[in-house]
Formats: sequence, structure tokens, C-alpha cells
Amino acid sequence: MEKNKEFFVAEILKWYEKNKEFYPWRSENDPFKILLSEILLRKTDRKKVAILYPQISEYIGSPIKIVNTDLKKLEEFLKPLGLYKERARQLKQAAEFILNQFNGRIPENLNDLLKIPGVGRYTANAVLCFAHKKRVPLIDANLIRILKRYFNLTSNKSRERDDRLFWEFISDIIPPDHTKEFYYGILDFSNQICRAKNPKCSNCPLNSYCSYYKINSENFNKKILIKK
Ligand code: SF4
Repeated sequence: MEKNKEFFVAEILKWYEKNKEFYPWRSENDPFKILLSEILLRKTDRKKVAILYPQISEYIGSPIKIVNTDLKKLEEFLKPLGLYKERARQLKQAAEFILNQFNGRIPENLNDLLKIPGVGRYTANAVLCFAHKKRVPLIDANLIRILKRYFNLTSNKSRERDDRLFWEFISDIIPPDHTKEFYYGILDFSNQICRAKNPKCSNCPLNSYCSYYKINSENFNKKILIKK
């Protein structure tokens, strides 16, 4: 791997080790609970899911528990997360499908995972990575933003997350022994440092090789001088 890519991966892992955020699903080994948390995390603040997680795990933490829960009760239970009607219906369908088609077990291959109602490519790959420890690309807006800034990548696709450029690029750099930590690192790094607005470039451990920082460093230095 090129030096710049090696540096990027090593620094993300190092940064994550010191600055990781703790969420209960990150230490989870049960593939169904990992799938469930991925579904609930869509369009939802992670902190809200974290607060409800102990109850989620206990009361609806398996396909059979969801199937046996009345739809209205499930909706009530999911209300604090928003989109509760849609989510409750989706969880019911997914749980029934998993029970009927896979005997309650979460498949370990992409094709079967994609058959589960409500499971798209990102969620399927998240399950493969976080539950089954597979080295797969996990492309979302945060990762794309960081890659574009750091490596100066550009995409002309209207839906950037489908651009082969990012899939191939990330497939090349995912660290085989720390895939999970790398993606959680990217998530937390994008939340704390390389934010969509006002990235903290001056305090960023990647800034010595970051293209965005190089291009904008004159402006950053001016801002620092003005503050002084
Ligand atoms: Fe993101 Fe700025 Fe760090 Fe580059 S230097 S990776 S743009 S925070």
C-alpha cells in the first residue's frame, strides 16, 4: 500500500484508540442485535438509540421476541426514536423473514442478507463487518467526505456512495485485522474532527498529509494570526 494510505489508516486507528466513543452495540456479538441496531441507527441520533438500547436488547433483541410482540406495543416501544410506525412494521417483516427463511439465524453472506426486508447494501455490509468480522467496504457520507478531503478524490456521480472509485479505494485500504475498529474510528473521527461543517483541521493528526489542509492551510494560518 502507498505510504500516504498507510499513514491514513494507522492514524485513524491510533486516534480511535484514544478517542473512541462508547455505544453498547459496539461490544455486541449477537448478529441479530447488530442488525437491529443498524436499522434503528438510520436517521437517528446515536445517543437516543444508546439510551433505549438496554431495553431494546432485553425486550426485542431476537426475531422471536419481535414476532411475539404486538405491532402497537412495538410502535409504542420505538416511539422515542421517531419514525416508529415505519420502523415497527419493518422490524416485524424482517424478524418474520429471518425466522421463516433462516431459522432465526443471521446469514453470513451478502446475497442472503439482502433478501431480508429493509436491509440494503450498507446495512448488509455493516452486519458482515461488525457481526461476522468480514473485510468489506462500508461506504457512507462520512467516509466519502473524509476520503475526498484527505486524498483529494472527486466523483462525478450524482449518488456518490455508488461510485466504484470509493468502493475500490476503500477495499484497498481496509486493515484486515482491525476492520471494525477502522470503521468505528472513521465514524467517531467524522463526528469529532473531520466534521461536515468546520472541520478541526488545526488539531487533526492527519493534517500533515491531508490535501484539503494543504490547499486551505493559508486560510487556516490567516485565521490563527487574526485570532492572536
Ligand atoms: Fe479532515 Fe481537516 Fe483532518 Fe483533513 S486536516 S482529515 S480535512 S479534519
